[in-house]
Amino acid sequence: MGKCVFCDLKKDDVIYANDAFRSTFDAFPVSPGHSLVIPNRHVTTIAELKDGEWALLKPAILKTIMVIESTDFSEFYSGFIHTPDEKTAVFSGKMLEHTGISKKPDGYNIGVNLGPAAGQTIEHLHLHIIPRYLGDTEAPAGGIRQIVPELGDYTKL
Ligand SMILES: [Zn+2]
Repeated sequence: MGKCVFCDLKKDDVIYANDAFRSTFDAFPVSPGHSLVIPNRHVTTIAELKDGEWALLKPAILKTIMVIESTDFSEFYSGFIHTPDEKTAVFSGKMLEHTGISKKPDGYNIGVNLGPAAGQTIEHLHLHIIPRYLGDTEAPAGGIRQIVPELGDYTKL
């Protein structure tokens, strides 16, 4: 395919792999351990995944979480604060200041952006695994519902 960041994912950046998926830490993390589970095939939507691939998504997610929970992110992000990719350096610096940097995640948000309206910017399907840490936001209720901030926390409406 070429010119696709996920088709061209570097071997060194792969933290887990099976016959259908590879996982990597997001280069622009929103929380320590933010990871992506990426199908090996260049598909754009979940509809294009075959049954055999779906079956391998579950272990990909669970094993990626195991990697997240056994990684020292203080050490990991320290390795990127001087990387030539300025954006990754900035995000890594932010992670080192994050409340969860030395903790095991307390929870996860898992989700996929499907289509430009949903914020998909890379046409190669990828599933976000976003570790959450108690106290990382003031009002976490509603979780991924917060993509529509004014309606996110239904406990307050
Ligand atoms: Zn691709």
